[in-house]
Amino acid sequence: MATTLAAPTLHRNVAEFLSKPRKMLVNGKWVDSVSGKTFETYNPATGEVLATVAEGDRADIEQAVKAARRAFESGKWPEMSPSKRGRLLWKLADLLEANLEEFAQLETLDNGKPLTIARVADVPLAIDMFRYMAGWATKVEGNTIPISSGGAKYFAYTLREPVGVVGQIIPWNFPLLMAAWKLAPALAVGCTVILKPAEQTPLTALRLGELAMEAGFPDGVFNVVPGFGETAGAALAAHPDVDKIAFTGSTEVGRLILQAAAGNLKKVSLELGGKSPNIIFPDADLSVAIPGSASGIFFNQGQCCCAGSRLFVHKSIFDEVVDGVAKVAKDFHVGPGFDAATNMGPLVSQEQLDRVCGYLDSGISEGAKAVVGGKKKSGAGYFVEPTVLVDTKPDMKVIKEEIFGPVVAAIPFSDPEEVLPTANNSIYGLAAAVWTRDIGKAHRTAAKLRAGTVWINCYNVFDAALPFGGYKQSGWGREMGHDALELYTETKAVCAQL
Ligand code: ADP
Repeated sequence: MATTLAAPTLHRNVAEFLSKPRKMLVNGKWVDSVSGKTFETYNPATGEVLATVAEGDRADIEQAVKAARRAFESGKWPEMSPSKRGRLLWKLADLLEANLEEFAQLETLDNGKPLTIARVADVPLAIDMFRYMAGWATKVEGNTIPISSGGAKYFAYTLREPVGVVGQIIPWNFPLLMAAWKLAPALAVGCTVILKPAEQTPLTALRLGELAMEAGFPDGVFNVVPGFGETAGAALAAHPDVDKIAFTGSTEVGRLILQAAAGNLKKVSLELGGKSPNIIFPDADLSVAIPGSASGIFFNQGQCCCAGSRLFVHKSIFDEVVDGVAKVAKDFHVGPGFDAATNMGPLVSQEQLDRVCGYLDSGISEGAKAVVGGKKKSGAGYFVEPTVLVDTKPDMKVIKEEIFGPVVAAIPFSDPEEVLPTANNSIYGLAAAVWTRDIGKAHRTAAKLRAGTVWINCYNVFDAALPFGGYKQSGWGREMGHDALELYTETKAVCAQL
């Protein structure tokens, strides 16, 4: 069944892309799955089938790992000159830019997000990531090390070498951007990659594979195997010939990845869940703190691991802030991402809708009150109302667990000293924010927050140069910035007696 698309301006390449079953990219060729199986992806705005995609599993992962291993060991990628590798990444970015509208539309149809957002955030940030990492390809340097051991003289230095064959498993909330965060640094340093996109949203990763072939990446350097987590994902995480696995997704699956990786002790980096505190002090400029905090939770339908889902507000301004955030929630035009007026789309899937509604029911049945929202929107598609909860208790599930939807709990505080331990009282530590006009307080608070990112008087500011990752159960390692190079390189110490 073909989906009914509301947009009169559907890009012709998108229509063409969706019209045929999509194959997977293994060793530079577009192939069917070994089993011949396919799966369907859905348009979250309608619940209708959007595309048919080859369903990879263990056998396909096997082929892709073999191809990536060959491409690595033959030296055609790690030994290519760094400037040539950098130029290929830059070319991929240029192709992405030339096809920006097509990628934005594909992302909106597959994930549900507003097209206006995909155009200005998802695709441009992915382009930036490839360009930023293209620059690093020529700057992966070691050090010379003075040696103190007695007697002989030594010359010692370090090399940073690519870790090898890398498996990358990504989620559905920013499908193209997460692919870029993972692929760009790994490819820049000379690793070869098997990318497993989320089963809900494989389309932009597959289209990116086409652009990589067009750019001229050698066969086997960049493989894309769509499929389910329990089959394709688990096979990749457990594969004995994969040197490193990089994962973004839930903390629960992160633990499974770790267990699977234990077999050959492959390197692991994880970007997991969050329950980020967002603190508004009484001296904050509310004209920025209110819209900023609303965007901190509602951006991408709340499907952000760094979403500011616990909003701590000083009691002197609590009502004003809650009213302000609730007004933003009420004013959202919730609808299909393809509609020009939409500024909040549907959730990604029926499963995600059920999960978010389950949290809303749990919070409300335990005594929380929805100032605005609180339930599913009627009609087709996976739409939920943006929600502000008050009267929560610290032990409620809506306070402790990640909801991954447009649901914020507003919590009053009276003593600025006490808010920090409460804000830090979470198994997660991905992000946090603080709003105040007092620069000293802002930085003192930033220092005390146990989170990988702290925003001051802003939220959701991302940049290819700024490392991102979690404390505590929010993950291991940092993506983006030069920190990301460490995820994909080994340090070799070389010591010569002179
Ligand atoms: P969500 O629960 O929000 O869908 P997940 O953490 O389950 O997020 O999914 C993120 C990615 O992890 C997806 O690509 C998914 O296919 C993959 N995945 C899910 N389960 C496993 C697993 N057991 N092993 C490896 N990958 C998995």
